[in-house]
Amino acid sequence: MSATPQGPEAVSNDAARGSLDTPVAGSGKVARLLRDASGRIDLKSLDFQALQNWVRDELHEKPFRARQLWKWMWQKGARSFDEMTDLARPLRERLSALAFLPFLHPDLILKSDDGTMKFLWRLEDGFVIESVLIPDDGRLTLCVSSQVGCAMACTFCLTGDIGLRRHLKASEIANQALQVQRQLPEGTRITNLVMMGMGEPLHNLGQLIPALRICLDDDALNFSHRKVTVSTVGLVPRMAELAAALPVNLAVSLNATTEEQRRAIMPITRKYSLEELLEACRQFPMPRHKRITFEYVLLAGHNDSLDDAERLCGLLRGIPAKVNLIPYNENPDRPLRRPADAVIKAFQHYLLQKGMNTSVRATRGLDISAACGQLGKARQQAIDQGWLDDARRIAGLPTEPR
Ligand code: SAH
Repeated sequence: MSATPQGPEAVSNDAARGSLDTPVAGSGKVARLLRDASGRIDLKSLDFQALQNWVRDELHEKPFRARQLWKWMWQKGARSFDEMTDLARPLRERLSALAFLPFLHPDLILKSDDGTMKFLWRLEDGFVIESVLIPDDGRLTLCVSSQVGCAMACTFCLTGDIGLRRHLKASEIANQALQVQRQLPEGTRITNLVMMGMGEPLHNLGQLIPALRICLDDDALNFSHRKVTVSTVGLVPRMAELAAALPVNLAVSLNATTEEQRRAIMPITRKYSLEELLEACRQFPMPRHKRITFEYVLLAGHNDSLDDAERLCGLLRGIPAKVNLIPYNENPDRPLRRPADAVIKAFQHYLLQKGMNTSVRATRGLDISAACGQLGKARQQAIDQGWLDDARRIAGLPTEPR
């Protein structure tokens, strides 16, 4: 088994290069993981409707069993069918023969000086993914991964370097929220979920939607749809599909104000132009008082001029929008730089005085490589620098087998 975050095999960065509509590398792998070697089904990748169908067609049980199972899995976090004490033993045995309850194996937990925590999880096939927990102003936001790696290949983002290894299963997405929540002290609750970790969530819509349903259901993880945000590079057709399935908040990583500038840093622009993306935003069904968040990574000398600020206001005219400026988090092997504070302030000031709702995202978790655009490489760095075993010992986790 491979212990690297890259996992067993490489898969090419295909989606950003134009094959998004063909079955992607990674989908087949996920389909295989939805059943285990003995053909049992991953029960935690089903949304409630699918679970009901399974209970009826495969388990041949009464419909109320679905609700019981659902609550055991997602409210009580049951790790085995044996814990489900209100099910008779023969039924529990039948469940164990037909289905399994996957969990993420905690690989490492890192804590930043600023209180941000990063959770590294090992998946059943050896890949490692990351979730980031960010305490901020009374909120507790969990940043969740949707894929191992990413196919979008944005030039400024480290996750892109890994390429797409595979999509995550719905259970692997929702388990990040369940398992982090269960590690928190009594009375502390994750308040917000953002699909802004590793991966492009809309590239994995098939598993994202059941995962979000688990997050939103009252009898499951019970998050308000107002507190759940899906962030995308702008996979235009999938934006409408998401909106048709679920009422969550949308964030769009815009990052540029001209086609040329965006193509240079976000290859997906070759497939869906900036203009098409903005048109999809205009068409996006928005409840009153809601806004689309436009994320804008500020890169020194590339997209941080006042001309950019002016163009940005023009592009967003007519869209219920708020802008979230993200000063670039520098990565050692990139020539890109974060603008000086005065430049960031001037950019924000321009937007504010044009009446644009604008915030600057505080950099969090820089010391543990948990900041935006830094996920995926920390574990390898830790191995390279020889401190992974120490960190695992401190966290009370077993050290790597040699
Ligand atoms: N694929 C989705 C989800 C990832 S969210 C998306 O792109 O929206 C990650 C956010 O961090 C995106 O807005 C991205 O533009 C931003 N980002 C990526 N690398 C960054 C970096 N090095 N510094 C600051 N922000 C970065």
